[in-house]
This record gives sequence, C-alpha cells and structure tokens, in this order.
Amino acid sequence: MKKNVVILTGAGISAESGIKTFRDSDGLWENYRVEEVATHEAWERNPRLVTQFYNNRRKEVLNTTPNAAHTALVQLEKDFHVEIITQNIDNLHERAGSKNIIHLHGEITKLRSDRHPDHIVTLNGWEQIYGEKDPWGEPLRPHIVWFGEAVPMIEPAMELCRKADFFIVIGTSLNVYPAAGLLYYVPSDCKIYLVDPKTVNTSMKNIAYYQEKATTGVPKVVKEILAQR
Ligand code: NAD
Repeated sequence: MKKNVVILTGAGISAESGIKTFRDSDGLWENYRVEEVATHEAWERNPRLVTQFYNNRRKEVLNTTPNAAHTALVQLEKDFHVEIITQNIDNLHERAGSKNIIHLHGEITKLRSDRHPDHIVTLNGWEQIYGEKDPWGEPLRPHIVWFGEAVPMIEPAMELCRKADFFIVIGTSLNVYPAAGLLYYVPSDCKIYLVDPKTVNTSMKNIAYYQEKATTGVPKVVKEILAQR
C-alpha cells in the first residue's frame, strides 16, 4: 500500500506566481483591510465592493500559472497517496495537475448561495455579474470562507492529517486558525517538512526546515521524500 503524503499550503506557495500574500503587505490584502472585503459584515455593508474585489483577485488568478513548487508536488503522486490541504482560494494546485485537494477557505472560481451553502456555481471566466441571484432570489456570494465564518472542511482535513506518513507545510505563517492547528493532528512519528523563507514559529519537534522560497525548497523536499519510497 502506498504511504500517505499530506501537504498544507498557504499563500506563500503562490507568491512566486505573482499572487500576493497579505501578511507580507502589512496585513493588507491588495490595499484593503480584511474587514472591508473578507467578512460577512463587509458583504452586507457593501456587496458591490466585495464583488469587485473578488472579481479583481479572480482576474489575477486566471492570468497567472502554477510555479515550480505546485508542479513538483505532482511528482509525488506516482509513488505516494497525496492529499493537499490548501488555505488558498486560487486554483493553481488543480492547474498544476494535483488530484486530491481540499480548499479550507473556499475557491475563488466559484460562487455560492448564502443561505443554502451546498448550492455552488462554477463561474465561466473572471466576472461575477453584480446582483446575480440564487434560485431562492438572493444574491450569490463568492465561495470563500470569510473571517469569522465556520470552516466546514476542517474535519476531513483533520482526518487526513491523522493518517500522514509524511507532512509538508509550505508558505503559511501558521497564524490563521483552525488551519494552523492541523499540525497537532499529525502522528508523533511522522516526519514534517516546512518550507518558508521566514522563520515560522511552531513548537513541533521533528521538523526539517527549508528556510527558502517555495520554488527552490519544494523540489528539494519532493526529492528527499521520493528517496524514501
Ligand atoms: P499568510 O499571508 O499569513 O503567510 C504567507 C506565508 O508565506 C508567510 O509565512 C511568508 O513568509 C510565506 N512566503 C512568502 N513568500 C514565499 C515564497 N516565495 N515561498 C514560500 N513561502 C513564502 O498566508 P496564509 O497563512 O496562507 O493565510 C492567509 C489567508 O489569506 C489564507 O488562508 C487565504 O485564505 C488568504 N489568501 C489566499 C491567497 C491565495 O489564494 N493565493 C493569497 C492571499 C491570501
């Protein structure tokens, strides 16, 4: 049976594709405070601004491509069972060719009904037309887990972490919970690899730290894990 590689990614893995992380820009997301664009209160207060903000982010995502870190992870699938848990809302893991991806914080390429969260619509292109309604007559919202909202995919993500033989953490400040807490579900004998150019504080032992950018660090980690197949 193939061993399990579980991977937790954050905004840093997509930075070299040209998508900014927000903690690297003074806590602002493309010049907006998260309270202005990434909370349900913001959506209620100014849905036009929130729609426009995500339209712009979507345009950026569709205009960029996966980088060497996204593509290196795909190589693991030949010899391992690989599961990616991403905090990212972009679709760069999918476009690189990874198969099993859990989006903890939603997907920018989709919209959903506010009151009926299972009603999800995939957008064709970058633009959400402002005011588009769900079948119940209410405005469709971006399929994003906003700050302060529940994270429904956290339970399946915890289950995957419990079964990890290898765990890789890439480009996340480990500041956003509950995602950051996933590390504590990884078995104590599991080897953990961490790739981030900045020092990321974690009390976990057993970590092999690659303090460098994702496009150089991730191919090294992949090579090291492939050598242990
Ligand atoms: P974060 O902004 O808190 O942290 C980003 C981390 O990436 C930092 O530790 C930083 O040192 C690291 N980093 C920067 N450049 C890197 C590189 N080239 N290679 C590797 N690491 C690099 O991001 P987060 O922890 O993911 O949390 C922010 C939340 O904001 C996410 O959960 C997500 O929902 C949202 N977000 C998503 C995107 C995206 O989809 N690409 C982009 C920005 C924000």
